[in-house]
Amino acid sequence: MNLGTLKKKIFKSIKNHNEIIIARHIGPDPDAIASTNALKLAIKETFKNKKVLVVGKSVSRFKYLGEMDNIDENVLNNPLLIVLDVPNISRIDGINFSKYKDIIKIDHHPYEDKMGNIEWVDDKASSVSQMITELILDTNLLLPKKAAENLFLGIVSDSERFSLSYTSSKTFYLVAKLIEKSNIDIVSLYKCLYMRPFSEIRFQGYIATNLNVTENNFAYLKISKEAILEYGVDIAAASNLVNNFNYIKEIIAWALVVYDEKNEIFKVNIRSRGPVINNIASKYNGGGHPLASGARIKNENDVNNLFAELDEVCKKYNEDRKI
Ligand code: AMP
Repeated sequence: MNLGTLKKKIFKSIKNHNEIIIARHIGPDPDAIASTNALKLAIKETFKNKKVLVVGKSVSRFKYLGEMDNIDENVLNNPLLIVLDVPNISRIDGINFSKYKDIIKIDHHPYEDKMGNIEWVDDKASSVSQMITELILDTNLLLPKKAAENLFLGIVSDSERFSLSYTSSKTFYLVAKLIEKSNIDIVSLYKCLYMRPFSEIRFQGYIATNLNVTENNFAYLKISKEAILEYGVDIAAASNLVNNFNYIKEIIAWALVVYDEKNEIFKVNIRSRGPVINNIASKYNGGGHPLASGARIKNENDVNNLFAELDEVCKKYNEDRKI
């Protein structure tokens, strides 16, 4: 099916349902929260009487992108489920997937699980916010200002300010249209994403000082509980900071690990400037994009094994480049 027809089909399905649930992945990032809330606002603006709920655990640091709704799945009547920004059913947050029969998936990760009758997966799109921008601009969905702000923030965040490789002419075209149509104040929006407490900058200094860098240009750090306490940050700070270690000459891939005591799991954020890492992450209860992945690991030995595999892929990458 060509893309134009697919977008029309998505719009028609939205039009034909009175109850719509919009879900995204667990442990959401700004793109996941921004795109789900933007789509909700666009649908509500276009079809005033529809019930549209955004579901999943709320994350206080992203409240500026919108609040989550409470959902009682037992009272829903033939709802449409729209799943954004997640390739696998097991990582969808806040719903019982088996309860839904009409399902739309819109995602920019490499394809994993089949979810529904309508699927738009573009693993070359910079973000799902970019795809939702395209959907709104190319259909009769309206674009309220708050939705445009969210979409801008989602695109900026997932493309790392238009610096990652899936930033394309289409990204810039859609962002230009978004700004033109909604008159958003982009300078004030950057503050939402990038304003942070000084403690986080000091913590970044701690990470920079303590990162282990191998001879294969892989950098890693297990962040101790003591460091988290000493710098007065929370465990989400590592996820927040991992992107700041790009463009360091001596590092081509890097991983930060924190131990989440509540869930008894090691949370790993992995990034790369060349070697493909998502196939390695997926062996350790993880996954993601070729150059930006994460993993949730039960035992520390596996964390070490993951590091060893990442180091090895860096070694191979360097060798191949020498040829
Ligand atoms: P993060 O490092 O948490 O920002 O995640 C980077 C990318 O990896 C995002 O696309 C996440 O959806 C994905 N990701 C993170 N953790 C996991 C996991 N445990 N399983 C699958 N994908 C993940």
